Amino acid sequence: MTNTTAPSVPTNPITWRPVAEVTSALLRPGDTLLAIWAHPDDESYLGAGLMAGAARLGVRVVSISVTLGEHGTDDPVSFPPAKLAALREQELRGALGALGARSVAVLGYEDGECHEVPEEVGTEHIGRVVDAVRPDAVLTFDSDGVTGHADHQAVGRWTRGALAERGDVTPLVTTVVGSVWPVDLIDQMHSVSMFYPGYPLPRPAGPFVPVTLSGDVLEQKLSALREHRSQVGPLETALGVGGYRRMAAIEAYRPTNEAATRLLADLTVTSPSEEMATAA
Ligand SMILES: [Zn+2]
Repeated sequence: MTNTTAPSVPTNPITWRPVAEVTSALLRPGDTLLAIWAHPDDESYLGAGLMAGAARLGVRVVSISVTLGEHGTDDPVSFPPAKLAALREQELRGALGALGARSVAVLGYEDGECHEVPEEVGTEHIGRVVDAVRPDAVLTFDSDGVTGHADHQAVGRWTRGALAERGDVTPLVTTVVGSVWPVDLIDQMHSVSMFYPGYPLPRPAGPFVPVTLSGDVLEQKLSALREHRSQVGPLETALGVGGYRRMAAIEAYRPTNEAATRLLADLTVTSPSEEMATAA
């Protein structure tokens, strides 16, 4: 089933897929999905629908946060790092509970410093997580990190590196949602400095799956976002209730290795840049 009524997008019309089509193409009941993020709340903004959809399918969802986001405040006097870390870990657990994720781990890196970690150290650490969890699919950031955050980009690189070292046999999908959010929402997101200068990037190069969420999965995502009380207020205010819901209803995933490309081949659309390149 194809949903063609979903969010307006500035360029070519694209075919939006219900998340259940993605999860059932990628995973089977009893499988394990490993989601690897940089900060508490990344999972809820960027991958919540896929994680909740997988859990609904009977998949074990394991979520990793590499840091606790302990510097994520404009008020470090009231929320010094140790206090904010404890609060954000609690929020993360609440959010993952809302998504039906059964397991969460925090790797203990310093918020904002992931790009300073030697590449091989981060990659080796993620590799150990992969070996312990033995996932059937992995979800993380694409190379842009959606927002341009260096922590996001580092965690994405470590994950891609760890899977590549293991032969790239585990399907890897990355979130490219920043490329499909409608421009009016992105303008409002800029007003709360959600993106680094130059981000989000235009449509991803190569095939990706644009996803729309509705019904219970969308409600689960909104519940998960609400758990991150220390973080989500300014964006919710900037977007308004309707805009916030439209933002939450959109996700997008790129199959990042051959294993994922094979599984998602029937669901992907090709970005305009590649269509133009093919036509040239
Ligand atoms: Zn983040």
